[in-house]
Amino acid sequence: MWFNDYMIQQKAYKFRFYPTRDQIEQLNREFGHARFVWNHALGLRSKAYRRRGESINYVGLSKHFTHLKKQTAFAWLKDATASCLTQKLIDLDKAFKGFFQGQADYPRFKKKQHRQAVRYQLDQRIVASNYRAGEFLKLPKLGALAIKWSQVPAGTPKMVTVTKTAAGRYFVTFMCEVEIQPLEKTNRAVGIDVGIKDVAVTSDGFFAGAPKYSYRHHRKLKRAQRTLARMQKGSNHWRRQRLKVARLHEKIANSRQDFLHKLTTWLIRRYDILCLEDLNVAGMLKNRRLARAIADVGLHKLKTYLEYKAQWYGREIRIIDRWFPSTKTCSACGKQHAMPLHKRVMKCDCGLEMDRDQNAAINILTAGLAGCGATYPQAA
Ligand SMILES: [Zn+2]
Repeated sequence: MWFNDYMIQQKAYKFRFYPTRDQIEQLNREFGHARFVWNHALGLRSKAYRRRGESINYVGLSKHFTHLKKQTAFAWLKDATASCLTQKLIDLDKAFKGFFQGQADYPRFKKKQHRQAVRYQLDQRIVASNYRAGEFLKLPKLGALAIKWSQVPAGTPKMVTVTKTAAGRYFVTFMCEVEIQPLEKTNRAVGIDVGIKDVAVTSDGFFAGAPKYSYRHHRKLKRAQRTLARMQKGSNHWRRQRLKVARLHEKIANSRQDFLHKLTTWLIRRYDILCLEDLNVAGMLKNRRLARAIADVGLHKLKTYLEYKAQWYGREIRIIDRWFPSTKTCSACGKQHAMPLHKRVMKCDCGLEMDRDQNAAINILTAGLAGCGATYPQAA
């Protein structure tokens, strides 16, 4: 939504918090009940769909649970915050919509060991007495949370999500409406070649590298996983080791995300138009070794981050058809060459000698700007 020259956007703020013993107990109840609602509703929907080809929607499920709560056998459902349970039904509805539109896998049952989440809808009439940015947040049945505020959220949150990671850490995420100013024009356009050795190589010769965590952390993770596999399932040692594995997973995911955020913000600030190749991630995922590498650097996230940040800041992303031979074409004269993977340099009779990825990035830029009439300087 555009209002004059600024834009209203949903922005998420995430903070760690340290629950008290009572809060941990109540949160376990909230998570457990929410899990029950999700799994029970998923079971009902799946059965109805398989047996009768019917679709039970949110309204139907909501009625079902209202009825369920009135029965004494399910009275314990009232120990959880009602709005959190409602939100789970909404989530499930969204998950099914995503599935039917071909954008997501079939919804899965949730397990206790996985990441847990509940969402609270903040009552806007009394939000002032329960929330002050950077100071306090009180939630129903929990009271005030001890939040480690690393920044002060802008705007008033309508929703708050409480999560517990698989490693047992607690976070609270605020969804706030904030105004975002578009960035000033830079009159620069760029072609970006996305890859594994360098997550991004630009047409003007910037090599992003890859997140540095990978090697050392992965070795540690592998060792921890091997130890876990040797332990007796369900024992105390096993439980502790499983937590250790989960913590390492989280560490790797966090540093990856951090790397991608920094990189994408830098790119968005620097260029008005960013041209990318349409990544055939699904096709690449069929190659198992390649799939690991792609998951490691989070290539599909790179595109997502660029797209939403471009929207926030008034930049333009242009996606080039993935069948375009960006790697094989000489960016100086247009001649095509065989470029097997080990060939790191594009050498052409015309005299061009250039890193293969940068050469590809220049071709992506040329294709992105072709026919649009823009006069952007090409790579120097
Ligand atoms: Zn050439």
